[in-house]
Amino acid sequence: MSPAARYDAVVLGGGHHSTIIAPYLARAGMSVAVLERSGRFGGAAMSGKGPLNGFTMNLYSHWTRFYSHPAYRDFGLYDEGLRYAFPDGNEAMVFDDGTAFVGYSAYRVVDDRGTQEPWPEGVKRTEEAIRRFSDADADTYLRIHDAYAGGLKTAFGQHRFTAPPAWGEPDPLEAMLSEDGVIQPVHQFMSLRQLAYDFFESAELRTLFLRAATTSTGCYGDDVPGLQGLVHVLALTLSLEPAAIAIGGTQAITDALLAAGRKRGVEYHSHAPVAEILTRNGRAIGVRLESGDEVEADVVVSGLGLPQTLLKLTPSVELPRRTRNRLANVHYDRGQLAWLNVAVHEAPDYAARVGDPEVGPQPRLYWGPKDPDWLATRYQAEIFTRGHSSRFFALSSTDTLWDPGRAPAGKHLVGVEEFAAPLRFFDRQQWKSIENGVVDLLVSSWPRYAPNMTRDNIAGVRIILPRDILATHPDMLEGGYSQGTTMASQSGRFRPVPELSGYRTVLPNLYNCSSSMHSGSGIGRGSSLNCWRTIAADLGIEP
Ligand SMILES: Cc1cc2nc3c(=O)[nH]c(=O)nc-3n(C[C@H](O)[C@H](O)[C@H](O)COP(=O)(O)OP(=O)(O)OC[C@H]3O[C@@H](n4cnc5c(N)ncnc54)[C@H](O)[C@@H]3O)c2cc1C
Repeated sequence: MSPAARYDAVVLGGGHHSTIIAPYLARAGMSVAVLERSGRFGGAAMSGKGPLNGFTMNLYSHWTRFYSHPAYRDFGLYDEGLRYAFPDGNEAMVFDDGTAFVGYSAYRVVDDRGTQEPWPEGVKRTEEAIRRFSDADADTYLRIHDAYAGGLKTAFGQHRFTAPPAWGEPDPLEAMLSEDGVIQPVHQFMSLRQLAYDFFESAELRTLFLRAATTSTGCYGDDVPGLQGLVHVLALTLSLEPAAIAIGGTQAITDALLAAGRKRGVEYHSHAPVAEILTRNGRAIGVRLESGDEVEADVVVSGLGLPQTLLKLTPSVELPRRTRNRLANVHYDRGQLAWLNVAVHEAPDYAARVGDPEVGPQPRLYWGPKDPDWLATRYQAEIFTRGHSSRFFALSSTDTLWDPGRAPAGKHLVGVEEFAAPLRFFDRQQWKSIENGVVDLLVSSWPRYAPNMTRDNIAGVRIILPRDILATHPDMLEGGYSQGTTMASQSGRFRPVPELSGYRTVLPNLYNCSSSMHSGSGIGRGSSLNCWRTIAADLGIEP
């Protein structure tokens, strides 16, 4: 079915944030069409067959907590089929000296609406686990936990799900800063390396903090993640939020959102690439598709990167020179992944279980050298010069422990994340050897941590590299996982550039809901909900 000639609202791109905003627009009574260039919806939130017959892998995003997004509740997504498993063990790391650290969730999800309650048992177990290697860090953990429970958790949620305030008005995280508090003014300007060494004394937590930071912000040791990045990384390192596995894979999030949209009348059109945003008298009036078809709309919402939206699709709009330069100067060269789906005969069995029988079934299990200085100072250098690190620092998850339906009976699927160079640094042939290098390093390093992870145990591997990401996600420049690195100068009220940071654009009825806006990259971040609330405010309707 082709799109109709006119809707109240059109949404450009059928990616993750478009699938969130569409049902909100429709719930307000608007006719809505979502226009996606490819054959599938969900953007980087989709699963597919592989790496072998009978397995279902996450093609891109994997670690998600969509149960905490307001849409989960607003649209009853549990009843639309989005179910999570919530293991007690949360963030863990196995080190190269045979030791390990397992953290436990400080909160539990207690119902099908995503409601959380504190889990004191989890806090006690995490504290005890840290105390085994550092009393000072165990005390720090308790202080951070108490600050989190005492307001930081709420502030973090508000920060994510509200539009950033103007300069001069503190955002919810800035409002929590105090010179004698846990999060102090200087922390917003510290590099990751400084933060790791400021908060923690042990090599264990410094290593985990630095590695988790690259997963959650894309940043490396000398980058400044800002308050948003800092609080996120602390929450990960210390298991402050419930970790979870989406049953059925990340696709389950997209499927539930599409079901919610369809129920409210949203039309989803695939193979509908947008070639131009049409304008008249200083307003957006709709879009022209590559097919030449035109679709009119009162409200035009771009789920595409802001640079694509304003530098490519709106040729008739004059941008101030500085804004144009700034949009072209958004940095993308962090968070480039080597994302591997590994089909195995037996689940990994970590040798560190001898010291702690709990090691292994954690949804966020890292393994790598216990070497924070190397992570802080040489990890990025090697990735940028060699294409990948010479020492493997994995984040992994054996999803099928909780979701056996994604593998043939008795087999397992392990997702493994490492980092790679920005796409432009190497040519096609070099990327081929980087691909081989990453897979060889995975296979040669893994048995050191889990002796049963021999070559014979690995049935198949599918690797996704920056070239694969850019080919499917034109706004993830350099093949990173983000539409603009989430560093301090590109976060909050500065994202992606200060003068265009609040979901409104240069035309009064053209909005941007994509992850190139605050609160950045990641499944379940706030850009689409915040964009919807901005549109509702402009139209004078209840969000
Ligand atoms: C490999 C990888 C791993 C990741 N891992 C995680 C993870 O574990 N956890 C997590 O939280 N996040 C993860 N992310 C990040 C997360 O997936 C993204 O932040 C999120 O998908 C961004 O949503 P979006 O709607 O802004 O963009 P996208 O989801 O990329 O959607 C954009 C859509 O627009 C379409 N499009 C582009 N141009 C046009 C056009 N001209 N006309 C019509 N359609 C167009 C694209 O085809 C795409 O469908 C990962 C991302 C990648 C790539």
